[in-house]
Amino acid sequence: MELRNDEISDVVRRVLQELSKKEIKPDESDGIFNTVDEAVDAASKAQRELMEMPLEQREKLIAAMRKAVLENAMEISRLTVSETGMGRVNHKYLKLRLVAEKTPGTEVLKTTAYTGDKGLTLVEMAPYGVIAAITPSTNPPDTIACNSIGMVAAGNSVVFSPHPGAVNCSLQMIRLLNKAIVEAGGPRNMLTSVRKPSIENTDALINHPEIKLVVATGGPGIVKKVLSSGKKAIGAGAGNPPVVVDETADIKKAARDIIAGCSFDNNLPCIAEKEAIVVGDVYDEIIEEMKNNGNVYELNEHEIEKLMRLILTEEQQEATSGCDIVPRPRKYGVNKRWVGKDAAVLLENIGVNPPKGVECLICRTDNDHPFVQEELMMPVLPIVRAKDIDHAIELAVKDEHGNRHTAMMHSKNVDNLTKMARVINTTIFVKNAPSYAGIGFGGEGFTTFTIAGPTGEGLTNAATFTRQRRCVMVDSFRII
Ligand code: NAD
Repeated sequence: MELRNDEISDVVRRVLQELSKKEIKPDESDGIFNTVDEAVDAASKAQRELMEMPLEQREKLIAAMRKAVLENAMEISRLTVSETGMGRVNHKYLKLRLVAEKTPGTEVLKTTAYTGDKGLTLVEMAPYGVIAAITPSTNPPDTIACNSIGMVAAGNSVVFSPHPGAVNCSLQMIRLLNKAIVEAGGPRNMLTSVRKPSIENTDALINHPEIKLVVATGGPGIVKKVLSSGKKAIGAGAGNPPVVVDETADIKKAARDIIAGCSFDNNLPCIAEKEAIVVGDVYDEIIEEMKNNGNVYELNEHEIEKLMRLILTEEQQEATSGCDIVPRPRKYGVNKRWVGKDAAVLLENIGVNPPKGVECLICRTDNDHPFVQEELMMPVLPIVRAKDIDHAIELAVKDEHGNRHTAMMHSKNVDNLTKMARVINTTIFVKNAPSYAGIGFGGEGFTTFTIAGPTGEGLTNAATFTRQRRCVMVDSFRII
């Protein structure tokens, strides 16, 4: 019997429908489930199994996860760019390597001991159990890998809620990590997710009674939601990082560093330079230096207008900063279609033939310009002229919107650097380097892709995902 094309499509559709209804047995799964309940139950079972294993075994799992991230970094980076249409493959590869190499493991879990006449008291860092982790579209597999290493190192299992626009690369990272964990002798389903993330599924996950900690990495909407959940929540929210340059800076280096940070992964990182505030004495000089680097195009007034029409939407809405939840009047929104796109693509779409190798578009604007005030997440750098250093710091504080996220400064004047660090009060403050030095890329210190400014944990690691437990022995075990 021969089937027509429409009959074949119908059979395929029905088979797929049946398959999606089929219950997935936890002992056969790769961590991806049809429902939130299944994903949480499986992760809960896995976490109990992990608790039966020695710490030495947990360390083997972490080592296997790092290896899996390294071995698959290029493939995952390609998948991420092709799925999300955002960012740059070579930079995503570097971000995944950074996660594999510099995300802390069990070594950051420290026990505190008090001894005295009354005996011995221990304070240990214990797991929460099952953590719900909500991840963004801008660094999807990096955030999943980084959260997984830290959360599992702390003894938790994780149910992820990936961004629907980055579901394939996110689920693929979960599968790879789970495979590595199982092959290293760990429990199945340490990391789980639903197959089809949605707002309803995220809400069900946050409210599931088995979830004891919710960690959200994303914009102000999701941070506000998890902070209102009634559960312990860690919020890693939006930023709009300014970079300030004063007249004492090494201008050549500052120009190079600012463009490198701003164009890294097409400006998707929440820490990336989003606007530069430069004191008048060196304003023209730094713009010339940036242009000398060869990968920068300066937009003229007419092109700025055209770019505004392309990348901004005229939504009248209130924006809330991720931190203080203070509404601010907002005239423009950002057209998501252009987030993370190459500088050349932006130029082509405003009718400019892109110069070879262009990575960043710069423009001279005033401080109220929407390119300064909105978190564009595109390789576009507005540069604002300030009267002097006090004026520059004042503008930078305004542009940061109280997010307490990240700021940069290029200066050789210790007093100016100290003043800005104090006044802007951000979680990360980078001096004389590109923004990414703040997450351990070319700077000292560990890395993270969940920077919890709003809730104050700062750069999260395994220790952040623990709860303190006190264990008291009276009259014994004081040995001196
Ligand atoms: P987003 O807020 O659109 O999405 C983040 C996650 O939250 C996604 O999983 C999304 O599905 C979910 N989500 C969003 N609104 C929701 C709602 N109302 N109900 C349920 N779920 C909801 O952010 P994005 O565009 O994917 O990522 C970019 C944003 O994240 C930027 O603002 C950036 O600064 C921020 N970010 C912050 C950090 C940090 O460490 N602080 C790291 C990366 C990104």
